[in-house]
Amino acid sequence: EKLIEARNLKKYFNTKKGLLHAVDDVNFYINKGETLGLVGESGCGKSTTGRVVLRLLEATDGEIIFEGKDILQFNKEQMRQMRQEMQIVFQDPFASLNPRMSLSDIIAEPLVVNKVFKDKADMHKRVRELMETVGLAERLANVFPHELDGGRRQRIGIARALALKPKFIVQDEPVSALDVSIQAQILNLMDDLQKEMGLTYLFISHDLSVVKHVSDRIAVMYLGKIVELTDYKTIFKTP
Ligand code: ADP
Ligand code: ADP
Repeated sequence: EKLIEARNLKKYFNTKKGLLHAVDDVNFYINKGETLGLVGESGCGKSTTGRVVLRLLEATDGEIIFEGKDILQFNKEQMRQMRQEMQIVFQDPFASLNPRMSLSDIIAEPLVVNKVFKDKADMHKRVRELMETVGLAERLANVFPHELDGGRRQRIGIARALALKPKFIVQDEPVSALDVSIQAQILNLMDDLQKEMGLTYLFISHDLSVVKHVSDRIAVMYLGKIVELTDYKTIFKTP
């Protein structure tokens, strides 16, 4: 059963050199509980695709069908609700966050913004639960992210993405900034969470060796187009 589908998706940028077809008529679907890997060299359009799918960037044309509805037609209020279902995990989760916020404040932020809890104690409990889910010790609650290693920082990013109980997560190079040993821990965590919560992932990476471990199917992107979309066994088939 399909959770999300991109149909004839396009995103063009006006640049000094003219119109750049960053996402050039892209089609794919992702079934519930599945991971679609999106791989390709730097600049081929992966991040732009991930952002357009979540409407963090407006598409130039096309459709994003999520649970049967084209979210590109949604108004602001519909989109605000939809955002809770669709989250993103970035390569560097703190590039855009306030470094003066503690770990628990960062995880609580989406809960606060969306007014999920009336009662502070309930929210506190949910934040602790999220910390436990991603393997962050309770004693770290008041620590600032820059005091932590990259793996723990990425765990915060994951906890934040999970806070509103989404169905779909865009993983945008989530382990690319991490040491190889820590990459495996984070990938295993994401895999466990996916199985536990039935999550659906679009997993973006320039690193085919990472993508082939996590993906059910792989889309290969080149100059804004998906040039191959298949299960990895077919991509790596030896003659
Ligand atoms: P990838 O994630 O595969 O590295 P991106 O999606 O970041 O690729 O970028 C695709 C292309 O679109 C690149 O040529 C990039 O420079 C260009 N691009 C991305 N964002 C913008 C923007 N806001 N304005 C103009 N060009 C952009
Ligand atoms: P990533 O591919 O990891 O997302 P980038 O360095 O490609 O990181 O992009 C960082 C930000 O800059 C993004 O918001 C992207 O849309 C924007 N960007 C990328 N390329 C360009 C460009 N050529 N012109 C303007 N903005 C760009």
